[in-house]
Amino acid sequence: MENKPLVLIVEDEESISNFISSMLSSNGYRPLKAKTGQEATSMNASYMPDLILLDLGLPDLDGIDLLKQIRAWSGVPIVVVSARGLEREKVEALDLGADDYVTKPFGTHELLARIRTTLRHSQRMQSQKEDKVFEAEGLKIDYERRVVVLAGQEVHVTPIEYKILVLLSQNAGKVLTHDFIVKRVWGPYSNNNQTLRVNMANIRRKLEADPAKPRYILTEVGVGYRMAEE
Ligand code: CA
Repeated sequence: MENKPLVLIVEDEESISNFISSMLSSNGYRPLKAKTGQEATSMNASYMPDLILLDLGLPDLDGIDLLKQIRAWSGVPIVVVSARGLEREKVEALDLGADDYVTKPFGTHELLARIRTTLRHSQRMQSQKEDKVFEAEGLKIDYERRVVVLAGQEVHVTPIEYKILVLLSQNAGKVLTHDFIVKRVWGPYSNNNQTLRVNMANIRRKLEADPAKPRYILTEVGVGYRMAEE
């Protein structure tokens, strides 16, 4: 089947690269492997993969620099692979145009979920098809009527809360950084992360049965928020 998505794995550690590669092959993807940044650049240009899985710790060049180089001319979906504790690196990668991230060590299920969501999201962007409603686990957001419904009951949200919910739900499954959300909701010159936190707490109080264990809007510690998918 030639329409299997082509995934370029950029990873210098052979055992990890082989592990990801066989996992992808057995889950309906065609994997390609690059060990260095240079190899990745040339393989990206010649194979035009559907998605790049980019390890940020590479031997010949900084993964962040490689990300910038690729983003300068290509919109290919990129999921970065970063080590635990390097939240700032993840935020930087996301703000430079990476689509999502996984943290090492990661499980098969998590990696496949990130890849699936990222590919689906990029296809949706390309088709320019806008959904009229968002629905996941009993939560419904009707974009035309501008209402939020939870388990059949309308929930009253403020205009700012609604804006945050629309942004997150239109990117469901994808992590959005604090900075990205703040700039999209309050404008390009704002940097008020505290206001976002307050609004998010209010949204959770309205939507989540247990705000400490959110079901709809998940916290990515040190990075941002992710809305659950249906
Ligand atoms: Ca590495």
